[in-house]
Amino acid sequence: MKRLENKVALITGGSRGMGAAIAERFAAEGADVVITYSKSADSADKVVEKVRQQGRNALAVKADSAVADDLRQAVKQAVAAFGRIDILVNNAGVFQMKMLEDYTLEDYDHMMAVNTKAVFVASQAAVAHMPAGGRIITIGSNMAERLATAGALLYSMSKSALLGLNKGLARDLAGKGITANLVQPGPIDTDMNPADGPHAESIRSHTAIGRYGQAREIASLVTFLASPESSFITGTEQTIDGGYNI
Ligand code: NDP
Repeated sequence: MKRLENKVALITGGSRGMGAAIAERFAAEGADVVITYSKSADSADKVVEKVRQQGRNALAVKADSAVADDLRQAVKQAVAAFGRIDILVNNAGVFQMKMLEDYTLEDYDHMMAVNTKAVFVASQAAVAHMPAGGRIITIGSNMAERLATAGALLYSMSKSALLGLNKGLARDLAGKGITANLVQPGPIDTDMNPADGPHAESIRSHTAIGRYGQAREIASLVTFLASPESSFITGTEQTIDGGYNI
């Protein structure tokens, strides 16, 4: 039997990068998948197509994670299509580099809305439809715990808040048989942080393993956390960064 046989998963930001890799891996493990996206409808359609090629069902929902009603609507559409949500992956995120004096309050509000508030909103909406055995997996960042560069204070703050949110989810939901865990990637080769980008050499040099990670390596850990094998793991932070933070 596959590890996620007949599970229903909702993945925010599943059109590209890690979210897309997680959606495809979940399908390979037997899950039906709902992904959200904000802009990339064509990429989202391709992910849906890849899931269907693996014999599973999929749905792409346009939902801006910065807008609470969009997220609640996405949860409703997932439940209307599949009846429940077994696994929520809070993955959508935005990254912006600026120095303290250059940030605007709009920058602040947007970063906090997508990276932090959306995790609270989606988790609250999804647990109403999540049976015992449910899983909430949130994608944070290793920059929540060690910031090796200037110019990323809002991103670091938005991801640090998830440490507390994740612990609270674990405590509040344990009685319902639901676990919550935080995955904190280091440099992963996606559109957000390409392995051939302008800062890539310096970023790579900070890792012990000496390379960027691949989205599929994050999908591997998320799949384990989503599976029944992780049943005694809750409230944890799993840093997966090639040794960047050690
Ligand atoms: P990408 O930029 O490659 O993909 C981001 C995904 O999130 C896309 O599917 C995008 O949708 C979606 N998204 C962005 N903004 C919104 C929004 N407002 N509403 C809904 N969806 C949105 O990023 P990654 O795959 O690299 O990042 C995934 C997660 O991992 C993020 O939380 C990120 O912060 C975190 N992370 C990334 C690291 C890295 O090195 N890459 C390192 C550590 C953490 P659309 O296509 O429609 O824009």
